[in-house]
Amino acid sequence: MHIPDIIIAIDGYSSTGKSSFAKIIAEEFSFLYLDSGALYRGVTLFAIENGYISDDNTINVPALAQALENLDLHFGEQGTYIGHRCIEKEIRSMEVAGKVSPIATVAQVRDFVDRKLREFGKSKRVVMDGRDIGTTVFPDAEIKIFMTAAPMVRAERRAAEMKAKGQDVMIEDVLANLQERDYIDSHREVSPLTQAADAIVLDNSEMTIPQQIVWLKGIIADKFGC
Ligand code: C5P
Repeated sequence: MHIPDIIIAIDGYSSTGKSSFAKIIAEEFSFLYLDSGALYRGVTLFAIENGYISDDNTINVPALAQALENLDLHFGEQGTYIGHRCIEKEIRSMEVAGKVSPIATVAQVRDFVDRKLREFGKSKRVVMDGRDIGTTVFPDAEIKIFMTAAPMVRAERRAAEMKAKGQDVMIEDVLANLQERDYIDSHREVSPLTQAADAIVLDNSEMTIPQQIVWLKGIIADKFGC
């Protein structure tokens, strides 16, 4: 199947399998995959390590905004980097998960991340996942998907993923974190998580990734006649 030069925007609740799906799409279609959440997580790690966010999640916004001007956060061979340091493992910790949604409410943080994401979008043939890709980052994306799944299914998937990486987590903590992030992400003032008017909903509670790919190819075929 010939896939046209398009941007695929995938948004949705936490741990609905957006990044697993997006990675497979990138492989199948020879697209560039961009994980926008990784950049928010990277800023969060940076904020924790430099004291811009406190234990009770109070953020020193002016200091953080200024520090962002010199923050070299980028994607590299092994994932996400600050300068030469690979931070892929640290940004997946529960500590970062507990602070990322408050950090992502800060307008200056969103501007910082959006600028990076839009640079990549210039090349087309991109699949990007996040919370506001189809609404704010790429409102003209040709295909917009809004992903959802039952909360317990999501918590189990995320806990299994973390355990596989050697992190000792309790399912109740993972579920509580997902629900808290969904709440903050959906209620923030700047670019809240909402379904774009032209997005197609994908509830993958009972779908495998190959089934989701078949579904997506059907959507693309219908839209582009390919
Ligand atoms: O996708 P992931 O779960 O890694 O994202 C972590 C957090 O980053 C989200 O819970 C959300 O607070 C924030 N985020 C966002 N906008 C995006 C992507 C992620 O606000 N486009």
